[in-house]
Parts: sequence; C-alpha cells; structure tokens
Amino acid sequence: MNILLTGGVGYIGSHTAVVLAQAGHQIVLFDNLCNSLKETVSRLEKIIGSSIVFVEGDVRNTELLITVLQEYQIDSVIHFAGLKAVGESVANPVLYFSNNVQGTISLLQAMQATQVNSLVFSSSATVYGEPVYLPYDEEHPTNPINPYGDTKLQVEIMLRDLANSNPDWKIACLRYFNPVGAHESGLIGDDPSGTPGNLMPYLARVATGQLECLSVFGNDYETRDGTGERDYIHVMDLAEGHMAALSFLNAHAGFHVVNLGTGKSTSVLECVNEFEKASNKKIALRFAPRRDGDLPIYFAKADLAKHKLGWTADRSVSEMCSSAWKFQSSQSKQ
Ligand code: NAD
Ligand code: UDP
Repeated sequence: MNILLTGGVGYIGSHTAVVLAQAGHQIVLFDNLCNSLKETVSRLEKIIGSSIVFVEGDVRNTELLITVLQEYQIDSVIHFAGLKAVGESVANPVLYFSNNVQGTISLLQAMQATQVNSLVFSSSATVYGEPVYLPYDEEHPTNPINPYGDTKLQVEIMLRDLANSNPDWKIACLRYFNPVGAHESGLIGDDPSGTPGNLMPYLARVATGQLECLSVFGNDYETRDGTGERDYIHVMDLAEGHMAALSFLNAHAGFHVVNLGTGKSTSVLECVNEFEKASNKKIALRFAPRRDGDLPIYFAKADLAKHKLGWTADRSVSEMCSSAWKFQSSQSKQ
C-alpha cells in the first residue's frame, strides 16, 4: 500500500515508518518539523536501507496535501501530526485548536477531494479523563480534563460523524496509553527539546548525567507503592498496532475506536528500578509534591485490540528501558 504519515518524522510516526517500510509498504512522510528534526529522515533511511519520500509541509496546507495524495497515489493516511504538550495547551488553547483540529479538518478536505477514505488517527487515553472505573475500556465515558485532550475528543467526534455520512469511509481512532522506548538500533527515539516533561526521557537524561535528579511527583497515592501508575507501551509494539489497524481497515469499513495499551500498570518507582537495571546507573531521586492534573493510576483494557486487530503489546518494561537507554546514551555521545 501507499501510506501517508502526517507527523511521520516525530517519535511515534518514525517508528511506525520503520515497521511499515520493512513490511514492504511505500511510505511518504509529511511533517512541518515543528517538533522533530530532518536528520531523523536520514536515520530512518539507514535503518530501512533505502530512500524515503519526505515532504516538508503543514497539514493546514490543504492544497499541498491534495498534491501529495495525488502524486504518490496514497491509499491510506495515518494522522500523527499534532501538538501534545498538556501544559502548553492550557496556556495557549488556540494553538491546539489550530494544529490539532483545524489541521485534521484540512486533511479531511484533502482526502475528500482525492477520494482517499482510509484513515488511522492518533488519539489518546487522555480522552477518558477521571476514571469512573478501571481498566478503561472503549465504552468508558469520555471527559478530557485539558484542552489537548479536548482536541483529541473533538477530532474523534468529527471522524465518527464523517464515517456516518458515507459508508465508504474506513476510520480507526487509536487511543494510545503511554508510549516509551525506542527502536533497537538506537538511531531513533523520544528526544524532546528542553527539559522533558515525561517520565521516561527524564529518567534517561538523569542516567546520562545531563539532569541531576528525578523529582517523583507524589508518593502518597493509593497505589502499590504510593507513586503514580501508568500503562507504558513499547513504541515498537505501538508501531505494529498501526499496521494491524491498517490491515483491519482493508476489510472493515466504518468507524472504530481501539485502545492501544498493555493492560498492565507500572509505578514510577518500578520504572526507576527497571531503568537502573537497564542502564547500570544509579538514578538520583527526590520525592516532590503531586503534579497538578495528574491521575493516580490508569491503564487499558486491551482486549478489543486483540480481538479486532489481532494485536497485543508484548514487549516488557525492561525492554522499554533498555531501548530508551540505548537511544539516549548514543545521543549524548554525539
Ligand atoms: P511528536 O511531536 O514527536 O510527533 C508529531 C509530529 O507532528 C512532529 O514531527 C511535528 O513536527 C509534526 N507536526 C505537528 N504539527 C504539525 C502540523 N501542523 N503540520 C505538519 N506536521 C506537524 O509526537 P508523538 O509522540 O510522535 O505523537 C504523535 C501523535 O500521537 C500526536 O498526535 C500525539 O498527540 C499522539 N499521542 C502521543 C502520545 C505520547 O505520549 N507520545 C500519547 C497519546 C497520543
Ligand atoms: N512523573 C514523575 N516525574 C517526572 C515525570 C513524570 O514522577 O519528572 C510521573 C507522573 O507524575 C506520572 C508518571 O510519572 O505518575 C508518568 O508521567 P508522564 O508525564 O510520563 O505521563 P502522563 O502523566 O502523561 O501519563
């Protein structure tokens, strides 16, 4: 298949690009590089062993998207492009409405104009909000607690309405839990600019000595060890989940919402312990107050992905940490 990956140079898009290209698909990466580096494209070429089509552009540029969809005879789109920083979305919601919602509308206009009707959308477990029960299944009420989550839910609603309007549409919204880890080559991974907000890249930089100490946000939650628990999923498992979703859409039209998680939760201290083993480094930490807006614990019910897509996330937290470490330690040598 010919597959367009918007935001394909970013963290999850680049790992998905590897899986798709190695399975023999033709991929086109479309990205405005607002949160990624062009160098990732050459690293991808090194992993894949062949050249990659990369188009620099913004998804809000509908005309450019139309040209790309036509020129490369695209069959399916995976829509990763978007902004994802919760704090920034609270401070500047219009930026998020524009990138995430307006960007998706522009993509849908281009797809409609070119009659490309197969779409996988990067959604998030953040659409569920405060747990009414756990694990979150796909029927759990949606009630996001920040503008970033609102944009994900708004896009899901648009996509549902679109699929209802015309039976030809094939749309999957994948609700990711906490993607971490890196490709085994150590060439691509999660490399946020500035101080990382997320646990795993922060841990990795403490292990390399770039950051001094991890602040553990809260140790008085009602969890196994008092620290927050999340459903961490290896980014390569997640990447494979996208390929499974595309195959599913080939045979099933309509609108589908599926969790991509492992169904298991891991605490902050358990992550620290696994990272110490993977890196053979001692991680300095201190207990700090709870972070505003953090939930104590959440994790996925992952059964629907298994039944519908024939996919499960099998890589361990230990593999997540060792691959993240391989990536981060080779980055800091450069
Ligand atoms: P990322 O920032 O690494 O990748 C997103 C890519 O999209 C970047 O390369 C960026 O340059 C590009 N981009 C952003 N706005 C664009 C625009 N207007 N036009 C063209 N390109 C644009 O993020 P990621 O972690 O790879 O996330 C990919 C998707 O998955 C995002 O939609 C994100 O919201 C979603 N998601 C991520 C997580 C996570 O924890 N990483 C969890 C749930 C959902
Ligand atoms: N966390 C932490 N210190 C950090 C970053 C994160 O203790 O520097 C905790 C956070 O409170 C949460 C877990 O690690 O319990 C995962 O946080 P992350 O930001 O990675 O994911 P999210 O909160 O989006 O699920």
